[in-house]
Amino acid sequence: MNELWESTLNDLRTQLSAESFETWLGAVAYDGLVNDGINATHVRLKVPNRFYSEWISSHYLDLIVTSLRAHSQQPELSVRFELDEKLVTSTETKSPTPTPPRPSQRPRPEAPRLTTGLNPKYRFDNFIVGPSNQLAHAASVAAASAPGQRYNPLFLYGGVGLGKTHLVNAVGHRVCADKPDARILYVSAERFTNEFIWALQNHQINEFRDRYRNHCDILLMDDIQFLAGREQTQEEFFHTFNALYHSDRQIVVSSDVYPQQIREMEDRLVSRFQWGMVADIQAPELDTRVAIVKKKAEQEGIPLSDEVAFFLAQMVKSNVRELEGTLLRLAVKAELMKRPIDLEFAKDALRASMPRAETLKTVEDVQRAVCEYFNIRMGDLKSHRRHRSVAHPRMVAMYLCRQRLGTSYTELGDRFGGKDHTTVMSAVRKIGGLIDKEDQDVRGTVEAIERKLGM
Ligand code: ADP
Ligand code: MG
Repeated sequence: MNELWESTLNDLRTQLSAESFETWLGAVAYDGLVNDGINATHVRLKVPNRFYSEWISSHYLDLIVTSLRAHSQQPELSVRFELDEKLVTSTETKSPTPTPPRPSQRPRPEAPRLTTGLNPKYRFDNFIVGPSNQLAHAASVAAASAPGQRYNPLFLYGGVGLGKTHLVNAVGHRVCADKPDARILYVSAERFTNEFIWALQNHQINEFRDRYRNHCDILLMDDIQFLAGREQTQEEFFHTFNALYHSDRQIVVSSDVYPQQIREMEDRLVSRFQWGMVADIQAPELDTRVAIVKKKAEQEGIPLSDEVAFFLAQMVKSNVRELEGTLLRLAVKAELMKRPIDLEFAKDALRASMPRAETLKTVEDVQRAVCEYFNIRMGDLKSHRRHRSVAHPRMVAMYLCRQRLGTSYTELGDRFGGKDHTTVMSAVRKIGGLIDKEDQDVRGTVEAIERKLGM
């Protein structure tokens, strides 16, 4: 990025709220210093559409110009906006220049004008599917392949950093690849709100409505919970929804909670959200986290052994964003210290931020906790007795060791009194199967033991 513009952005970052900064300045691209001959110089800034130029001009222009003049030492410097519908949203413009992907990984070319707002990084082909997000993924693929038909609206919900924005964008990319003429609009509920307010204040409401209701085939609305308590925007969205829905346009909405749990959301909107498909995304299981961290490392060109991938996935459970962040910090640290990312290095690096890295649980810890939970003796756990009262705890213990500690089947066989590795495998599969089938008993047991272990 240009130095002058970078310094200006740094000033503005300190002057605006993080949200405003992201929403408005995140969408601006510096496009050069232009001298028009009559010794007047201006900075050309590209924005996605007129809403941005108008809003930024009326709210932040003074700040921008003052800062530009100070940094360039050109007291006459001014700013001109140019519309550029190719621009993507903040996440893309602010991230450091990524290394160019190898040709085979390069996403399919998109019709730029039509993908306003989509983040090119979030596609189906780099989304890892596991039990925690299988339903949401399948519903998103289905909605993207037959937009406006069976899965309309599609409502995706799940906690932060679990892949909602990724899936919502992936729908947009897929539709765009299949139907290059489709008009796709990706917008966060916050941006929708801001544009709506701006349009009201500036007598542009007809243009606003026209854009969302008549020039949109696919509406991707991220983080709808932002509309909580914003009655007027909800009303507007309600009518937008109806217009699109009744002309069979696809609507995809994401939220951090289930429709009914969005605070202060009008009932009629909540009920519309449930007309189509509601799919949740849960925190990913260990195997999925391992696959995600490997995928991310591959994308970023970070050399990562299976062992370290497993360790990271084991340590960071709460959400995927955090997992990615941990991996990237580790890679930077390794580069600075000129160290390979081996297990020892990873443990050291994480110890600082995560005290639990020091107290990694062992097979023995798990066995002891399982014995206490079921009130049986260690000898029974390791015995060959097949009575359910000991066979079930044994299977649970094997499952936990495999899933949570990643111990190999062979080693577990040894540690459980000399059993064949296939015995361990079938135990792990059996318990895993019950959990996948939402067996509340087994799931509750496993969770209770994990809590006991502080895992
Ligand atoms: P949310 O919108 O639910 O808060 P995001 O979609 O922004 O979460 O996801 C956070 C990060 O995690 C993104 O970088 C995203 O690419 C990544 N991510 C989440 N789930 C997956 C997954 N299943 N496979 C690959 N990357 C994922
Ligand atoms: Mg999101």
